[in-house]
Amino acid sequence: MKVMKFGGTSVASADHIRHVARLITATEEKKVVVLSAMAGTTNQLVAISDQLVKRHRYEGIVLLDKLKKKYERETKLLFQNPTSYDRAWTMINRTFWLLEQLCYLENFTLFDEKKILAQGELMSTAMMLLHLEDMGKKAVIIPALDYMRTDKNAEPDKAHIKEHLTTLIDKQPDDTLLYITEGYICRNAFGDVDNLQRGGSDYTASLVGAALNVHEIQIWTDIDGMHNNDPRVVDATSPVRKLHFEEAAELAYFGAKILHPTCIQPAKDKNIPVRLLNTLEPDAPGTLISLETNKDEIKAVAAKDGITMIKIKSSHMLMSWNFMRRIFHVFEHYQVPVDMVTTSEVAVSLTVDNNSQLNNIKKELEKLGEVVIEPNMTIICVVGDMEPENVGYESKIVKAFEDIPVRMISYGGSEYNISFLVKETDKKRALISLSKNLF
Ligand code: ADP
Ligand code: ASP
Ligand code: MG
Repeated sequence: MKVMKFGGTSVASADHIRHVARLITATEEKKVVVLSAMAGTTNQLVAISDQLVKRHRYEGIVLLDKLKKKYERETKLLFQNPTSYDRAWTMINRTFWLLEQLCYLENFTLFDEKKILAQGELMSTAMMLLHLEDMGKKAVIIPALDYMRTDKNAEPDKAHIKEHLTTLIDKQPDDTLLYITEGYICRNAFGDVDNLQRGGSDYTASLVGAALNVHEIQIWTDIDGMHNNDPRVVDATSPVRKLHFEEAAELAYFGAKILHPTCIQPAKDKNIPVRLLNTLEPDAPGTLISLETNKDEIKAVAAKDGITMIKIKSSHMLMSWNFMRRIFHVFEHYQVPVDMVTTSEVAVSLTVDNNSQLNNIKKELEKLGEVVIEPNMTIICVVGDMEPENVGYESKIVKAFEDIPVRMISYGGSEYNISFLVKETDKKRALISLSKNLF
């Protein structure tokens, strides 16, 4: 069995859905197909919820009407036979009726917001199933809300996922080849509708793949695999054909948008290869992520924005035995993860990507020393095979920053990554210079 995940741009229109339907029915192999919402849908659902949170009901309904028009258009294009159209439109219209009800709630809560965000994936999977039926292909929906679950720490509950997903699959006749499921959406530990964060369909794919121990997890998207730099910022990037799990995980965590930040881990734990493929060029080789990699090579660069640097300067000698523990205890207390850390004799600098508790954290840290906070920074992460015996790579990388002010450098935490902290306004320059110097 394999997993095939198709992102929003892969199911962006009636034509795209037809194309994906052909791809997933081209072979007789058993597969679980994970679908995102049609491109733009989740963004629009987020925008609607934002209006409702601010009690701007009218603005929310105007956005909802726009979205409904798009679905009216695509449904007409996808279901040209009147009977199938009626069936499909009844289903889509019911979803929009539900969304309208949510817009009219007197007390709009976080629970309602999560229900709104879930509708995109529910609609795209239902449209795909009806279209496959029109093609005369047999497929079943395995509803994500019946097996995908997070625990009290908002982490995937892997035992629950495996048990429930396996039961749902085992209930189907043995000759079923095609299982369709929604990416991104889940229930939380209390059973409420929730999600795996933006871009989370990749995570669904790897959690499903790991739970079912498939032989390959395929992530189909709008580009030919992982490129060696961010193609949205740098021209003439090129695909990397092979990556080690660790390399891919670092790139995803540090901003390569093609992969959800934590989606490599479940695949790595089970040693299941992940293949990144281009939906519109299905024969292109893409990128294979596994335990194999090309040694002695710098593979790629990624950047993560929205970083805040926090510097704590001790009034005493820094390395007094409990100073570090006291700093990290503050972050533990407020449940804010730290990305980069550097130290000197009297100061510690670190970075966070979540500012929600910044004022509380600052107050606590001020008890330990002088605190300086700098927002709007970017972590630039260079990934490759940088084992200590491989000399020369670090100096080549550092040279690319010769004209760029660097605030922090982190190296040695992993054999695959060296990270630099720069101002967001210097990111583009830094990425271009790295491409010029390294590739
Ligand atoms: P999907 O909707 O299929 O999940 P995403 O938009 O989440 O697709 O991810 C694909 C996009 O990621 C690409 O279109 C590209 O612009 C962006 N991207 C950023 N960094 C990289 C990279 N290093 N390699 C490939 N794509 C990248
Ligand atoms: N539809 C969700 C999003 O746009 C999940 C995904 O596409 O991966 O974030
Ligand atoms: Mg994505």
